[in-house]
Amino acid sequence: MTPFVCNHDGSCEEVRLCCTNTEMTLTREDVKRIETLGYNRKDFLVRVEGGFCELKNVDDNCFFYEPATKVCRIYDNRPEGCRHYPIIYNAQKRKCIIDKDCPSGETMTREEIRKLCHKVRRLVETLRQEAAHGESPLTYTRTHQRPMEVIYPQNW
Ligand code: SF4
Repeated sequence: MTPFVCNHDGSCEEVRLCCTNTEMTLTREDVKRIETLGYNRKDFLVRVEGGFCELKNVDDNCFFYEPATKVCRIYDNRPEGCRHYPIIYNAQKRKCIIDKDCPSGETMTREEIRKLCHKVRRLVETLRQEAAHGESPLTYTRTHQRPMEVIYPQNW
């Protein structure tokens, strides 16, 4: 199995907070890719408010995370949103933000943030389109239509 390799500075070598109590939303493509590995969506998906689908947590960790070895069992095929972390989309604020749980957010450059925000905006748009066309992994019932903004750490 491939060890988890942080895309950024690896500040949290001891704890993978991004894989703990995850709320990662999945695209149709994510689910198809993971199922080709032999997993069944009934085992790793949960349906959440609004009809979106997220990774399931088991004992407070992502279904695919092994805390003893700090390994993501599907690392090479992990969801797109996991690849963009610590940039996440805050649905309540309707903004791309840096997840404060991730220490690497402190050391990311403005350019890195800008690139990841662009990818996250495209990802959210994909989720919206899948929802609008009923193509999401399960059945999406609601989309967020308001525009997103990008925010940076306050010390910038
Ligand atoms: S799929 Fe892998 S990288 Fe994503 S939250 Fe789960 S364990 Fe972490």
